[in-house]
Amino acid sequence: MNVASATSSDSPQWFKADWFWAGEGDTPRRGVFIETQSGLISDITPTTPAKFVDLGPAAILPSLANPHCHLEFSDLSEPLSPPLPFADWIGKTVAARRNRTDWPSSIQSGLQEVNHAGVGLLAEIVTQDDLSVYPETTSPLLMLFREFLAFDETQAAGQLQTLKSFLSEQKAGAVRGISPHAPYTVCLADLEDCVALAREFQTPLMMHLAETQAELEFLYHQTGELVDMLKRIDLWRPERYEQGVRPLHYLQLLDANLPCVIAHGNYLDDEEISFLARRPHFSVAYCPRTHAYFEHRPHPWRKLAEAGVNVTLGTDGRGSNPDLDIWKDAQFVKQQQPDANSRFLVQMATVNAGRALGQDLRLRIGQPARWAVVSPTGNDLSPFSDWDALLLRQTRRQSVIMG
Ligand SMILES: [Zn+2]
Repeated sequence: MNVASATSSDSPQWFKADWFWAGEGDTPRRGVFIETQSGLISDITPTTPAKFVDLGPAAILPSLANPHCHLEFSDLSEPLSPPLPFADWIGKTVAARRNRTDWPSSIQSGLQEVNHAGVGLLAEIVTQDDLSVYPETTSPLLMLFREFLAFDETQAAGQLQTLKSFLSEQKAGAVRGISPHAPYTVCLADLEDCVALAREFQTPLMMHLAETQAELEFLYHQTGELVDMLKRIDLWRPERYEQGVRPLHYLQLLDANLPCVIAHGNYLDDEEISFLARRPHFSVAYCPRTHAYFEHRPHPWRKLAEAGVNVTLGTDGRGSNPDLDIWKDAQFVKQQQPDANSRFLVQMATVNAGRALGQDLRLRIGQPARWAVVSPTGNDLSPFSDWDALLLRQTRRQSVIMG
């Protein structure tokens, strides 16, 4: 059976894997059977049914989810280089966008890559109006976040209109959101308008925030490489910004009781972490390999998690990451920080990512029958002995969506 493809059946089907983790607790169940019917999980039981699909030594986990990606850069064979200074790298992303000749094939190849990586749910930042480049896919399920950025009031008004049409044309079942880009392209007044629209349409939000030290300097002092970049391209409008602003001011405006993903959050300070910890609708998407590419100081993901913030993993786009395989980002953290808890890293790449996007991915009776299968490959096909083995051994990941 090709478990990578979605299948549909009204009659019950049963699956058995050696390792089953529903997305909560520390301990996987071994050798249980999942029954599905009409696209839902109808039972999870140790009782052997008359017939079942035996997945052998594989693990069944909640769907892998990637809450922060830019598929448009999927045509890049390697990250844009050099990564620093950051403002110059931003300039390279703009140039890459301008020079792109075949947008649909870039999105398409990104989606194929994401599917090949076994990711079942993907949040994509959309930067163009033609949505026909996003084909109807069963896997990954797509959440589209329309990007907003503006350098003056006329542009802001036009962008808000674009957002409105984007949200009004939402099809049933699809989930669209708003992504105010970043503080150096979205002033506080524009952010207020974006969030008002999110409230009106009850859509999730996502914003790059506390990503670089250059951004902090831009906000607080209106100096540094980001101001210089905007001056160079004649887009610096100092009257749109005021001194003494911090990421906290952006968080306060984003606080709309709607799912809100803070992309990166590399430089969130203690006050901002405690602000987020008191508001469960916020999540932080740590993008490990992108973070390393830009040589940031250590990411505060453990501090965030200990404070009670929902922390998840993202890939970002191929402009800063070598691929779109979220599992490899989890492996990367474990390799760089061997004392990191492997089970928690898996949680970050699955249920935490779902929660960040307002979706409950836990495997429970009555929930949609969709999950990830992690199968051993290579020379060692024995069952996984523990969480470290699951995360670090050579495996293949597949997304299953029954329905
Ligand atoms: Zn990004």
